[in-house]
Amino acid sequence: MVSGLFASGDCALCKKEAAAEFHLCESCLDTLSFIGEEIYSEKTFPVYALLRENRAASFMIEGLKFREERFWAQVFGEMAADFCRHTGLGPFDAVLCVPTSAKKRRIRGYNPPGLIAGELGLRMQLPFEEALYLTKKVKDQIGLGAKARALNVRGAFAAKNVFGKHLLLFDDTYTTGATLKAAEIACMDAGAASVTGIVCMKARDVDYE
Ligand SMILES: [Zn+2]
Repeated sequence: MVSGLFASGDCALCKKEAAAEFHLCESCLDTLSFIGEEIYSEKTFPVYALLRENRAASFMIEGLKFREERFWAQVFGEMAADFCRHTGLGPFDAVLCVPTSAKKRRIRGYNPPGLIAGELGLRMQLPFEEALYLTKKVKDQIGLGAKARALNVRGAFAAKNVFGKHLLLFDDTYTTGATLKAAEIACMDAGAASVTGIVCMKARDVDYE
């Protein structure tokens, strides 16, 4: 779909060096902080993050979210698939993503986590299902404290066609975990067998109330 963007074989970040892995060169890969472990754990709901927040990771995610650089979906899709392979996560029945509001989607034309989840599904030979949807208006979580975030998204999601399924749930950034947790509850309420969370980046610990 977007592979043409990488035809030159150049690093997607610095655009200078030859890409080594995930369309990034060795030195740009070195600037990223790979996590590779659970960042949050509940018996039925582990969450994994690919990267720790830093300048390079934020730049990549902001590119996808705000600069229409859709190729980052492919980069993160490959990273996530590689992570699942190496850690032996799964097997899963489907990849899901946290939904975005219809308004945001109209403005942007796409849902960033959905693009990545689609790329991840392709590489894991799993269907990407838009099984989660919004049931109420949700304010932007940016600038909200932990409690306000949890309240904002509580009961905001519902899921369909997940009964009995082992799900891989994708979002771009993990801040307090409120959004992912609300999405997981919706899946379990709809009869999912299990939910495993995966995110591109764990945000720096901020002093949330
Ligand atoms: Zn580079």
